[in-house]
Amino acid sequence: PRILGIEGTAWAASAAVFDAERDEIVIESDAYQPESGGIHPREAAEHMHDAVPRVVEQALEHARETHDGPADDPPVDAVAFSRGPGLGPCLRIVGTAARALSQAIDVPLVGVNHMVAHLEIGRHTADFDAPVCLNASGANAHLLAYRNGRYRVLGETMDTGVGNAIDKFTRHVGWSHPGGPKVEAAAKDGEYVELPYVVKGMDFSFSGIMSAAKDAYNDDVPVADICYSLQENIFGMLTEVSERALSLTGSDELVLGGGVGQNDRLREMLGEMCAQRGAAFHAPEPRFLRDNAGMIAVLGAKMYAAGDTLALADSRVDPDFRPDQVPVTWRADEPE
Ligand code: ATP
Repeated sequence: PRILGIEGTAWAASAAVFDAERDEIVIESDAYQPESGGIHPREAAEHMHDAVPRVVEQALEHARETHDGPADDPPVDAVAFSRGPGLGPCLRIVGTAARALSQAIDVPLVGVNHMVAHLEIGRHTADFDAPVCLNASGANAHLLAYRNGRYRVLGETMDTGVGNAIDKFTRHVGWSHPGGPKVEAAAKDGEYVELPYVVKGMDFSFSGIMSAAKDAYNDDVPVADICYSLQENIFGMLTEVSERALSLTGSDELVLGGGVGQNDRLREMLGEMCAQRGAAFHAPEPRFLRDNAGMIAVLGAKMYAAGDTLALADSRVDPDFRPDQVPVTWRADEPE
């Protein structure tokens, strides 16, 4: 099938067409850039309002150009969209756009969990069977593994998402959003200073380390040193819990997902840990790590093929949609 995906949970207004036969993914994205501070939900929603129709039209244009069926056929077989988790005002615009389009071209609607999409794009691009997945994104941080028909949350942040934690520190320093790439660049010249490291089993917390980093900045500790140490501790925590999850599940595959997964130091730490235990490690290319509609279209295609479509009346968005709420219909053949 050919699936149109629409993403717009926070900052990326994005539409994509996934052609399963050709295994081709075309993504059109338009990012919201706050003028100051972090993501303002209302401004982000205004961005979605302006940009979603535009990126959808661009993706559809591509779908029409490459369509080789009868001219009257719809250009795609289904419309998939991010139902959550994400910012309510943004999700509602994406949901409305997806419903309107599916009605207009008369194809089914598929409601995709954004976190499960971060995970499934890793499986898709690596051909992994049963990986542990570390989702290191802006508003979330989860360790997930498949068991008995669901992706179970083995561990997660007890407070903020990992990217948001980093962005809070960089806002304090006065750097523009997003902060992650700036911390990565500044860390190259830094040396280690002591910061908190909080792991409880497979859960972890970022609030203490963030306050300590802000305090250190106020106390004139060089910002490069704080950035270096933030990365070492935060990514060390994520690597430790990932290793524990691999050990617990017996899996020998780790997939990385989410925008923070673009960070080279995190990838290096995870790669080394996997190499030491003989596990395979896969980090998708950056365009599939940060929020993008390609991952929505790819998971949408699997759900569509499994008959997992949505009636209009059931297509409400859910800002708190957890990955373990999703029945994994597209892996029904897997051993339990
Ligand atoms: P979610 O997927 O949980 O809804 P999100 O919508 O905020 O999160 P993502 O695109 O997954 O978005 O991730 C964005 C986050 O990634 C931002 O917090 C940003 O600072 C962070 N980030 C981007 N590049 C890097 C990098 N090189 N190093 C660390 N963090 C990064």
